[in-house]
Amino acid sequence: MKIYKDFNFSKISYLGIGPKGKLLIVEDENDLKEVFQNDKSKIVGNCSKIFFAKKRYKNIFYRLDGIYGKIEKISSNRIMVGGGVKFSKFLKFLIDERITGFEELVGIPGTIGGMIKINAGAFGNNISKNLFSIITVEGKTVKKDITFSYRYSNIDKPILFAIFNVEKDKREVIKNRIEYFVKKRSSSQPLNAKTLGSTFKNPSMDIFAWKLIDDAGFRGYCINDICVSKKHTNFIINKGYGNNSDFMKLIKLIKNKVFKLYKIELELEIEIV
Ligand SMILES: Cc1cc2nc3c(=O)[nH]c(=O)nc-3n(C[C@H](O)[C@H](O)[C@H](O)COP(=O)(O)OP(=O)(O)OC[C@H]3O[C@@H](n4cnc5c(N)ncnc54)[C@H](O)[C@@H]3O)c2cc1C
Repeated sequence: MKIYKDFNFSKISYLGIGPKGKLLIVEDENDLKEVFQNDKSKIVGNCSKIFFAKKRYKNIFYRLDGIYGKIEKISSNRIMVGGGVKFSKFLKFLIDERITGFEELVGIPGTIGGMIKINAGAFGNNISKNLFSIITVEGKTVKKDITFSYRYSNIDKPILFAIFNVEKDKREVIKNRIEYFVKKRSSSQPLNAKTLGSTFKNPSMDIFAWKLIDDAGFRGYCINDICVSKKHTNFIINKGYGNNSDFMKLIKLIKNKVFKLYKIELELEIEIV
């Protein structure tokens, strides 16, 4: 197990804001057992959805790698993917193996575990669509025994592995589809900014958080270096020197104004820890 005693989480947080704290890299079952002896531990993936609200934490954070960072074909139509595998690595594997069914998700900067936990999705697809089962410390759970909905799952244990059903297609077709969704994403999202992606969930299928935020007048609005993106108003970005308190202030301001104007309570999509 790799241990970083005073790790700077701002280096891995997609918002570029994070505390100093203890980070463990769990590489096998023995490491896992050690981590579970500490009841104050929290798993993190790529930190592309987590907002670290505090400057210091008593609990430790851990990430999966080693045996949980691998992808394996287990039959002609199933693959097993470690919970710590980054989606970008997974996608390269899919292209090599001519596997289709995940192209819409290109550009989501999460790990397989983090994506399944919150049922990440884009352009009408989501990570749970082709899922067959997950493996946690408690063993295997098949998809039909898990509740998935919009940006939600009821999984409450670290996802060590995921098994997906897969289908094949021509490599060129898969690549073209990926290219199409890359273009679609880059035309509407500030991809090079420091951000956690969508800040709030859409209140319903036809009421969009970005529209409420835009109509409430927040496009480009800043509190110091923390700003509502001009390109996508549900993305809050850190222009460089943003801090926790300005981020929290902006979230509160948006929630209050949207409620005052439209009587709609915006629910966070990001997770505050
Ligand atoms: C530019 C940008 C674009 C984005 N676009 C999208 C999008 O299109 N669609 C979308 O859904 N999201 C999007 N996101 C948000 C984010 O990338 C996803 O929600 C992703 O699933 C988070 O994965 P992560 O590994 O970074 O998880 P983290 O942020 O590290 O953690 C998120 C949660 O998952 C839990 N978790 C992490 N790993 C595991 C595990 N192995 N087992 C159990 N729980 C675990 C954590 O404890 C935490 O509760 C975007 C983010 C950014 C920055």
